[in-house]
Amino acid sequence: VSVWAKVPAGPPDPILGITEAFKKDTSPQKINLGVGAYRDADGKPYVLPSVLAAEDKVISERNDKEYLPITGLGAFTQAAAVLAYGADSKPLTEGRVAITQSLSGTGALRIAGAFLARHYPHAKEIYVPSPTWGNHIPIFRDSGLEVKTYSYYDKKTVGLDFEGLKKDLQAMPDKSIVLLHACAHNPTGIDPTEAQWREISSVIKSKGHFPLIDNAYLGFASGSVDKDAFALRHFVEEGHQLILCQSFAKNMGLYGERVGTFSVVCADKEEKARVDSQIKILVRPMYSNPPVHGARVASTLLTDEKLNAQWLSEVKGMADRIIGMRSTLFDLLQELGSKKNWGHIKNQIGMFAYLGISPEQVDRLAQEHHVYLTRDGRISVAGITNHNVRHLAESLHEVTK
Ligand code: PMP
Repeated sequence: VSVWAKVPAGPPDPILGITEAFKKDTSPQKINLGVGAYRDADGKPYVLPSVLAAEDKVISERNDKEYLPITGLGAFTQAAAVLAYGADSKPLTEGRVAITQSLSGTGALRIAGAFLARHYPHAKEIYVPSPTWGNHIPIFRDSGLEVKTYSYYDKKTVGLDFEGLKKDLQAMPDKSIVLLHACAHNPTGIDPTEAQWREISSVIKSKGHFPLIDNAYLGFASGSVDKDAFALRHFVEEGHQLILCQSFAKNMGLYGERVGTFSVVCADKEEKARVDSQIKILVRPMYSNPPVHGARVASTLLTDEKLNAQWLSEVKGMADRIIGMRSTLFDLLQELGSKKNWGHIKNQIGMFAYLGISPEQVDRLAQEHHVYLTRDGRISVAGITNHNVRHLAESLHEVTK
């Protein structure tokens, strides 16, 4: 018998499964709203013109292909930290942020999981919002943390369950690790307001919890980096020691290049040096050192003044197109006479909209209308265009009558 005879077949990835079904559908009306990648106004993958220009610049430099240091390209990580924390962030100017380049956001979260599992001095448990990005749970479980949840989504309002969230933060043991989505919460598209963030920060502080901030959508949510960085910067100002996981997949459209950072706000320079040494000890046996090309491109976009301005306007262009599609979808549903309250489609932010429909309605959308999304009722708004929005609105109206 084969060595692997007893390996059980695992379930297919829920999102990739949708793409499979979409590919098999031969209807010209079919729409794929499953995958979380930006599409342009014609539904095509979009390479940012600023990224193409930065790539030209990088290639013209004829750099060598030597290994990067374990913690990656220093010019990139420094610029990435300034983008997220802000140029006058105290921990940055005081040189006490330990930062390393990561394999995009997922890789950053995986380093975070491993670092916390090895070095966090309290319970090795992490609380994630319910619901959260599907991959959070296996990432932390495989890192050796126990994963628990806190209230986040209110089914009745298709909004934030703020009271439930605060109650759960209070009820957790002191010094718990709490994962927060910095902005554009995935899958719900529901973010706390700035006032609510302030309260969340106070509760977390009074309980001595440890915030782990996942920021996969900086600038991509509202179109403004500073606005989307509010929660992170507020937490830092409030003196939280925190971990930040940053991805450049969405805001630079660098999905497959795997560009991100993992950083730890430390008490002082000496502590930062110790933390840095332990990050290297974690990373070296995992993948030795990160890939160089995407980091050079991102670094160019962050440090070349002209390209930086161009990139920021293109990020805003992507955010604005998504915000515009939310309005169009909402308006069409009204026009069609839908009796349902769809205000949440406009109030939510970021790549995804959580429709608040049942798994059975999702199935009908696919089977009767060729519209594909995850069974939790999440659509990638980035997949909506002027060409397909009417068919989407009509289908949605039909299954929710
Ligand atoms: N966190 C969240 C909440 C996300 O939505 C994503 C992207 N889907 C990521 C992290 C990481 O993605 P990547 O590894 O492609 O940067």
